[in-house]
Amino acid sequence: MIQIEHLTKYYGQKLAVDDISFSVGEGEVVGFLGPNGAGKSTTMNMLTGYLSYTSGKCSIDGIDILENPSEAKRLIGFLPEQPPLYYDMTTREYLQFIYDLKRCTLNRREHIDEIIDVMGLQEMEKRLIGQLSKGFKQRVGIAGALVSDPKILIFDEPTIGLDPRQIIEIRELIRALSKDHTIILSTHILPEVQAVCDRILIIDRGRLIADEKTENINTLASENRRFTIQILGPKGEVFTFLRKTEGAAKVEFLSSSKDGASLFMVQCKKGYDLRRTLFYALAEKRWPILEMSTVGASLEDVFIALTK
Ligand code: ADP
Repeated sequence: MIQIEHLTKYYGQKLAVDDISFSVGEGEVVGFLGPNGAGKSTTMNMLTGYLSYTSGKCSIDGIDILENPSEAKRLIGFLPEQPPLYYDMTTREYLQFIYDLKRCTLNRREHIDEIIDVMGLQEMEKRLIGQLSKGFKQRVGIAGALVSDPKILIFDEPTIGLDPRQIIEIRELIRALSKDHTIILSTHILPEVQAVCDRILIIDRGRLIADEKTENINTLASENRRFTIQILGPKGEVFTFLRKTEGAAKVEFLSSSKDGASLFMVQCKKGYDLRRTLFYALAEKRWPILEMSTVGASLEDVFIALTK
């Protein structure tokens, strides 16, 4: 469905995307993950024909995006990092405007009704976009990407700037859309791709450093188990005790509370899970555990594990 070969982009002297190759099959949901400045937006913009590239090749369903941009673009619905919304149009007017702009051929009324329905925008259709919450603006942006009835959807940082509830809603919508679309989603948040993608591409400083199934990344992340633990006991002694426990890779003191309890972050060595060990050992010491909570692996952990 999407084929990228040796894609490279220089902005003047600055190398932003460095010889990237990958392909995405029909129906796949692929996460494009990397820290800020890694080259995600640049790649998304080249993939969607919004930006030319310095060298390489990029084709959509066999159609070269530079040679045949309008035909290739017809297959793609794109939600850029900042969706181009017109704040003085209502939701419905905006979707009608895009419909006309893209010269859609489906029944105008039925098609737009259906999109409004799928995106849960029924109550917002007569409201001015400028007056909608950020979460609803993002839904209108996604609705706009759906108007041309594309097979492929490309989302650039779709949840940036949203509150936690809106993030969950947008992720659920993307998951629903993944049933009948090929999707590429760029993000700098690891749990985001873990939540919605089958496969993860990791980009760092313009280079593709990993192309893995999500389950493999999850395994990798769980091999570097981390948790926080709150312990009632003498802070210094507890800290030394934790650090000396076999299987502890790193122990960090986080905070202490008025009742004399201290909070630590424990990172286990590969293959170790210290939760049980510490439960028994601290009970023996008579230093009660008040709380223990697993912390998901960070993007940094996965980077370190992958680049080792
Ligand atoms: P990401 O989306 O992963 O945050 P970008 O693709 O936006 O990364 O940027 C990749 C690199 O290219 C960054 O170092 C950024 O500063 C640089 N860059 C992006 N756009 C431009 C531009 N228009 N001119 C010059 N440098 C740019």
